[in-house]
Amino acid sequence: MTATAPAEEQLWSRCAGCASLLYRKRLLRNLDVCPECGAHARLGAPDRLRQLVDPASFVALADRPADVDPIGFVDVLPYPHRLTAARAGTGLTEAVVCGTATIAGHRVALAVMDFRFLGGSLGCAVGELITRSAERALDERIPLVLVTASGGARMQEGALSLMQMATVSQAVAALREAGILTVSVLTDPTYGGVAASFATNTDLVLAEAGARMGFAGPRVIRQVTGRALPEGFQTADFLLRHGQVDMVVPRRVLRGRLASVLAAAAAGRPPTLPPPATTAPRPQTPSAGTPSAVPESGGTAVAGPDEDPWATVRAARHLARPTTLDYLDAAFDGFVELHGDRLGADCPAVVGGLARLDGRHVVVVGHQKGHTTAELVARNFGMASPAGHRKALRLMRLAARLGLPVVTLVDTPGADPGVRAEEHGQAAAIAENILMMSCLPIPVVAVVTGEGGSGGALALAVADRVLMLRNAVYSVISPEGCAAILWPDRSAAAQAARALRLTAPDLCRLGIVDEVVPEPQGGAQSAPAVAAELLRRAVAANLTPLLDVPPATLVRRRRERFRRYGAARVTGVGVR
Ligand SMILES: [Zn+2]
Repeated sequence: MTATAPAEEQLWSRCAGCASLLYRKRLLRNLDVCPECGAHARLGAPDRLRQLVDPASFVALADRPADVDPIGFVDVLPYPHRLTAARAGTGLTEAVVCGTATIAGHRVALAVMDFRFLGGSLGCAVGELITRSAERALDERIPLVLVTASGGARMQEGALSLMQMATVSQAVAALREAGILTVSVLTDPTYGGVAASFATNTDLVLAEAGARMGFAGPRVIRQVTGRALPEGFQTADFLLRHGQVDMVVPRRVLRGRLASVLAAAAAGRPPTLPPPATTAPRPQTPSAGTPSAVPESGGTAVAGPDEDPWATVRAARHLARPTTLDYLDAAFDGFVELHGDRLGADCPAVVGGLARLDGRHVVVVGHQKGHTTAELVARNFGMASPAGHRKALRLMRLAARLGLPVVTLVDTPGADPGVRAEEHGQAAAIAENILMMSCLPIPVVAVVTGEGGSGGALALAVADRVLMLRNAVYSVISPEGCAAILWPDRSAAAQAARALRLTAPDLCRLGIVDEVVPEPQGGAQSAPAVAAELLRRAVAANLTPLLDVPPATLVRRRRERFRRYGAARVTGVGVR
């Protein structure tokens, strides 16, 4: 009896690599790897778990994502509708499945992402669930295995999703401090905020054969550079050649390879005590569904009715707006610029060095734009290369050794969307900064002075106090980028700017920013000296109370700050 059409579909599937028609059962036996061409089909999280862990050993975490829409995001569809559709389509509650299991007898905590669920995007609930997996690993002192598959941060949750890069990274940092192995397995595709945080700041990074990983996606890079991309760009073999992954592993040996590294970690003798002050306690779930309390008093004026966010975006990009070097000249004294990443480059888009603020010695690091086209080109429009992030890292570590506070000035459209930046490990460079900032034993004050563009901005903004100039913006993605993805045409940038909640008052309300720094009438560019004085006062007022805080307390509080953002998005079992 011949099968009907629907049954035929279930019996056979076509390889995305070589278009061979394959008998489904044969494909399954081969772990969804094409026997003809070796193409690795994408796996959902449940299938991935079945392949990796010992039978019947997986126990899901009891935590469940709550139904929330933190910024009331609407594009052509309200965000809750997209969530509902993703849940119905996948049978999952979120884009990650977390729990504990054994792999060849080694107990691990696991988080496995699922690209089918809203592109595996990193939202608050996903960040929170992965963080809880990491905390479980720390509690039980067992390795953490992260299997990544993601397009990046979930733009429908605005800057709150951007913060998840820091939340998960500091949990990875706590495991690093405790001497507990962390392993990420990059699967296809791993991009954006996931690539630039926990996919690459773990101890070991394995890439499944055929996986692609990068910070900027190939389409964006092609658009920006107008160039064809090199053969095999961002593939696992490319990543291996450029020193970004430990190994490329075909799916059939992935489980065995994981077992080997877990066996090695089990044989080692990790240091006995983690520094107790640096692990952030689990926060209480805030009652109102907001990620944190609204700051009680801004200290400075928060302007009344908000103007159109799109107008603020344009103000933040104004060519005459003071740059980091302008502020270093006018708000700080005695700036001595320090150059270089000590690894072969000096990025002009990041400036930094020693300076004084009100007579106090500090280390300042910031993005540098320019006022003319020539200056902008020379500074790569304030878009840091991996060398820029590594220079910033070097200077912040220097500050830690010298016991000097760090002030960062954030003004970047984002990290550099270029071929070389990807070859030089952009994702890992950003990821390491985000992680390391959660460990700095010195006060850190960040000021978003102009554009706070996604991961490139966060790489300088994991701080004790985060300030924002009144006309600055801070966002998980540019309004143009968001419009291009979620709206039928990119002219919807103004609508996207409104949906993203990227202005200083909005971010203050969300608890991401502590204080809005006022600007002179007409914007900072209309009276740069006044703007510099307002910035100086705000930084000094925020820095001074931090100076007497013991280092361990500083680190603990900083981690509590970044731990809060996802907590309201997840409930314990039984709590709805
Ligand atoms: Zn094939």
